[in-house]
Amino acid sequence: MPAIPDTLRPANGQLTDALGRPLRDLRISVTDRCNFRCGYCMPKEVFDRDYAFLPQTSLLSFEEITRLARIFVDHGVQKIRLTGGEPLLRRHLDVLVAMLAGLRTPADRPLDLTLTTNGSLLARKAQTLHDAGLRRVTVSLDALDDAIFRRMNDVDFPVADVLAGIDAALAAGLAPLKVNMVVKRGTNDGEILPMARHFRDHYGSRVVLRFIEYMDVGSTNGWRMDHVLPSAELIERLGSIYPLEPLDAQAPGETAQRWRYLDGGGEIGVISSVTQAFCRDCNRARLSTEGRLYLCLFAHHGHDLRHLLREAQANDAELTGAVADIWAGRADRYSELRERGIAQSGSGERKVEMHYIGG
Ligand code: SAM
Repeated sequence: MPAIPDTLRPANGQLTDALGRPLRDLRISVTDRCNFRCGYCMPKEVFDRDYAFLPQTSLLSFEEITRLARIFVDHGVQKIRLTGGEPLLRRHLDVLVAMLAGLRTPADRPLDLTLTTNGSLLARKAQTLHDAGLRRVTVSLDALDDAIFRRMNDVDFPVADVLAGIDAALAAGLAPLKVNMVVKRGTNDGEILPMARHFRDHYGSRVVLRFIEYMDVGSTNGWRMDHVLPSAELIERLGSIYPLEPLDAQAPGETAQRWRYLDGGGEIGVISSVTQAFCRDCNRARLSTEGRLYLCLFAHHGHDLRHLLREAQANDAELTGAVADIWAGRADRYSELRERGIAQSGSGERKVEMHYIGG
């Protein structure tokens, strides 16, 4: 439970943590529910009919989210990503998008406002979201082959509907669009080439395909290192068919390493959080659906900002001071420690689940 500090640090847009890392990117989970049951994230055996999702009253309201977001922006956040669960399941999400789109950085710039979705409802909602002020979207898609995709989402959802969502998003102006593919060795690594071919041949630079190493997030997915396909191996495989060259990062703290097809077919990215940890530049904070602030994707605990909003009735200066103190004390670098074989197991505690905190 965070306390309201005795001395309230005001926001100056320059907040840094204990390792000197700024706060630039806020991921906000708007629901813990999802209509997919991907085995690596929300396996059916755990997230079944009896699973107790959060009740509506636990969720932060749009007003609460926007109030907190404003405080984070004053502290230096420039990018907000809405996530979940499946964010498009949250009713009237376009209203929240419009509220967040109205925020300005201390330098009076609009935010880089984006959203991560499984794409299942995107064809219906892309235009409304764009009109509300959404600028970009990332679509998760793990296979082009319909049978493999249906098996992976485990609710028999067809790939054609996600592809229609991608087209609708591009037509609505949500471009360039990113497609994220989690690669699990032995499950969908045979889809790397078909996915790369599809997106470069049909979309060129309008779609950036990014390959994500399967991560040991949460405690329910039975993660194993031999299911991880290291990005270096992926680049070697893909590069032998479509020669690639590395590109410089566009912004500090970027999760993906960028590569360019030498023949001009666009670019791809690899997110190697298992084999090449990037904690050193991590500038991301995560706000859960019920208002807990997590300082690392692999954290065991969050800081209950909803308590400050609701029970403690904190004013803006108090919230600002509390967030400043929490971030200033941040020293998390789980992936680096895992890489060196010294990650804390949390003495048997459960790590936060991806569907609760978002990607
Ligand atoms: N439902 C939305 C979606 O599908 O994008 C947003 C939430 S989802 C948890 C965010 C991203 O996390 C997705 O791209 C998903 O594939 C990814 N993800 C979930 N579990 C993962 C894991 N164990 N390793 C790597 N990525 C994972």
